Amino acid sequence: MRLETDPYLTRYAQRVQGMSASEIRALFAVAARPEIVSFAGGMPATSALDMEAVEAVAARVIRETGATALQYGGGQGRPELRRALVEVMDHQGVPAHADDLVITVGGQQALELIAKCFIDPGDIVLAEGPTYVGGIGALTSHQADIRHVPMDADGLQVDLLEERLHALAAEGRRAKFVYVIPNHQNPAGVSMSIERRLRLAELADEHDLLILEDDPYGLLTFNGDTLPSIRSLVPSRVIYVGTMSKTFAPGVRTGWIVAPRPIRDKLVLLREAADLCPSNLTQMVVEGWLTSQPWREQIKRFREVYRDKADTMLGALGDEMPDGVTWTVPVGAFYVWLTVPRGIDTSDLLAKAISNRVAYVPGRGFYADGSGGNQMRLCFSYPEVERIAEGVQRLGELLHAELELVTAVYGDDAPQLRARRTGQASGLGG
Ligand code: PMP
Repeated sequence: MRLETDPYLTRYAQRVQGMSASEIRALFAVAARPEIVSFAGGMPATSALDMEAVEAVAARVIRETGATALQYGGGQGRPELRRALVEVMDHQGVPAHADDLVITVGGQQALELIAKCFIDPGDIVLAEGPTYVGGIGALTSHQADIRHVPMDADGLQVDLLEERLHALAAEGRRAKFVYVIPNHQNPAGVSMSIERRLRLAELADEHDLLILEDDPYGLLTFNGDTLPSIRSLVPSRVIYVGTMSKTFAPGVRTGWIVAPRPIRDKLVLLREAADLCPSNLTQMVVEGWLTSQPWREQIKRFREVYRDKADTMLGALGDEMPDGVTWTVPVGAFYVWLTVPRGIDTSDLLAKAISNRVAYVPGRGFYADGSGGNQMRLCFSYPEVERIAEGVQRLGELLHAELELVTAVYGDDAPQLRARRTGQASGLGG
């Protein structure tokens, strides 16, 4: 339905007035066709799960506790699951107590509830640039004013964050919170260095800041290492979001929030207003998985799968990409962030890419301010290893052809090309 023909237009709340499905969404429907190698969706490799074990857990939930599993539950989520999730966090070195958790419908509902809890229209949120598209969606649906702080290979540039904090204070304003994804960031594929985590924690104290720490990927470092969570450094200033989507399965839609008690209480009320309670059925499946199966081994298996896929993608990028294209080098999780010379617009290029049988997500979706036009996210977690090289080759062919066009238009003076050759580019490109 075209917007101007929408007969309900005058009735909507302000918060939905500016919302519309992007044209890119339509292209994604096409990207699901089997002949296309899709680096678009951030989907875990659920085929690497031990399906017989999952089946046994699910069957036992129904057989032994069916009446409870199919009943309503409490708004905060089952205490048994909260206790099991405390162990998952402990495996990563994230301290928490089961009373401080609120179970949510994935990390996405957690972000939405937190936005609802804190954001009035026009409130400022500082966020990494680029940042998670679903985080932008949750925040903008409550009319937040998202201001990006650039990143580089060591994650959020905290010195620039400090500048922003001073500038806001000088205007007599403050950010409601700072939204960060410190581990294997979506979409940038980089992690915040330890020094920067420590500095961020100091800044939180100095500026009386709240931090929203979104952490779906902390257990997916290829070599098994973990870095200290921001929560472990300044617990009273952090609202931490976790999810089982990437370490087990997104289909169970199980995430959680760890928050200081007063915030936790508000979040429970908000989630009861939204959907009463999380599903007992899926909570009990996750509980069964975590208490009766070797889930640490499964996470190891995921890490190996993703490391192989990352190696394949990085190798293929090195072989196939033309000069002037740069990318980040992930040490965990799902994503590579690619920057192309400025004359190329990755939103415009997507239709051509799809007809070349390869798909990605254009960079603009990861910024609230319209930047990112010469960037794209490549997600390597889902396609089979054999198809990854094929997809990168198709993308390489396309970019070679586009660059020829750009050079024909700008000549050798294309500004971005010159900057790359002389190594002047900084940050993650833009
Ligand atoms: N945060 C980030 C950074 C993510 O990448 C995702 C999923 N792609 C989520 C939150 C939400 O995931 P889910 O709702 O499946 O837990």
